[in-house]
Amino acid sequence: MAKDQKSDKKAPAKGGEKKGGAAAKKDYYSVEGGKLERKRRSCPKCGPGVFLSEHKDRSACGRCGYTEFKTKKE
Ligand SMILES: [Zn+2]
Repeated sequence: MAKDQKSDKKAPAKGGEKKGGAAAKKDYYSVEGGKLERKRRSCPKCGPGVFLSEHKDRSACGRCGYTEFKTKKE
């Protein structure tokens, strides 16, 4: 069964080539005075890529439920 089919049909390669979220990551950081400041911390359990959601006195991971309480340091 020789399939000698010449592609005479030029179909644009469509296949989930969209990569979303690349620009959204910018929101996690802010550059202040030439210094990169991390707004969010990544989850130590889930690894980098999974950020902890910031709360008033704690950071929590919405994926595994990891919670890290903020310690007041002065
Ligand atoms: Zn996590």
